[in-house]
Amino acid sequence: MTAKTKAVKTMANIEAGECRWPIGDPRQEGFHFCADSQVPGRPYCAAHCAVSFEAARAKSPSSSPGLPPYRRAA
Ligand SMILES: [Zn+2]
Repeated sequence: MTAKTKAVKTMANIEAGECRWPIGDPRQEGFHFCADSQVPGRPYCAAHCAVSFEAARAKSPSSSPGLPPYRRAA
């Protein structure tokens, strides 16, 4: 067993394919990214994709579920 600590990923060392979910306050020490494996095509890991999806839904109270979908001529 190695005593390898998982490196904290910040703006400076986050790599492609790592979850960009921010943890903490960017203006404070200790801020870092989740850095789990990204879902292909997404900036976040599976868990954070789910969280961001819920957050986006909760953020738009104006989108009434009662409204019928409308079509636009393309
Ligand atoms: Zn994540």
